[in-house]
Amino acid sequence: MADAAPFERLALIGIGLIGSSIAHAARHHGLARTIVATARSPATRQRAVELGLADRVVETNAEAVRDADLVIVCIPVGACGAVAQDIGPHLRPGAIVSDVGSVKGSVIKDMAPHLPKAVHFVPAHPVAGTEHSGPDSGFAELFIGRWCILTPPPGSDRTAVERLAAFWRAVGAKVETMSAEHHDLVLAVTSHLPHLIAYTIVGTADELSEVTESEVLQFSAGGFRDFTRIAASDPTMWRDVFLANKDAVLEMLGAFQEDLSKLTRAIRRGDGDALFEHFTRTRAIRRGIVSIGQDSAAPDFGRPHGNIAQAPVPRPYASNDE
Ligand code: NAP
Repeated sequence: MADAAPFERLALIGIGLIGSSIAHAARHHGLARTIVATARSPATRQRAVELGLADRVVETNAEAVRDADLVIVCIPVGACGAVAQDIGPHLRPGAIVSDVGSVKGSVIKDMAPHLPKAVHFVPAHPVAGTEHSGPDSGFAELFIGRWCILTPPPGSDRTAVERLAAFWRAVGAKVETMSAEHHDLVLAVTSHLPHLIAYTIVGTADELSEVTESEVLQFSAGGFRDFTRIAASDPTMWRDVFLANKDAVLEMLGAFQEDLSKLTRAIRRGDGDALFEHFTRTRAIRRGIVSIGQDSAAPDFGRPHGNIAQAPVPRPYASNDE
């Protein structure tokens, strides 16, 4: 059974899309008595003050984590090691330290050595996002109905893991726990590879000489539009993801290239049956995703997928029995 009290002091390091969404959601659901935030640049800190994202916006990471019982690092994965080194000496014994990075193995490798034994390190990845970034882009509904994957290292304190799980459930997320290695493999195929494909195809279209840029824009509804949305995702974040999850991404890319070769061959040979069979199988996969509630069958006009009014009633630390 998780602790029923909200956290005393939530420290958010990094206040972009994910950090500011956590701030909005934690405040909305009363999950922390005090929220303290910091960001790397004075401009972002200033914006966080203007938006009222936290009770206090401070200049340094050390100041942010002081006396915090929950610290969530919300920055690109490539920067997590340096930040862990920065905050390590200032963490309160017993604090839960987490992150939101899209890759888990590298974050654990980079952060864990800098964290004192007296804190509980529970890495996490909310599988929720948009193509926008920065403190203005966050919203409290971002995590509603989305998965948050926890990857606690073996031997992690169960109470700390459950408290963090309860925090994520309270902001509307569904929580799953798995190893960091498995997370990185699953996300390589479900998220990292699709982003790589989007980045590739949008670049390819841009370089075509026979098709004008205005035609690409004009007819983008024909599938291309969705790729452009994904390809607009933050370059720093995604550079770090591919560098940090290199092995799993290369493995999935190899499998993808083999499948692409099969479809290429079917088109070249005019093998309509092979194409039809493949597209029928993929349509069933899409319908399965809709049927388990991971997406809507309605057309996507880019609206946020949830509404704060549909969020679970604030029940911050309910047990994990649903
Ligand atoms: P974001 O909107 O670009 O915000 C990034 C934040 O990190 C900003 O506050 C930025 O500060 C700070 N930052 C950037 N580089 C830093 C560095 N080298 N050292 C310290 N702070 C730094 O990014 P985001 O989308 O919130 O992503 C944050 C994390 O969430 C990433 O690890 C990403 O993998 C993960 N994630 C993202 C999504 C998504 O869809 N975006 C989904 C799930 C998880 P300044 O503004 O001052 O530079």
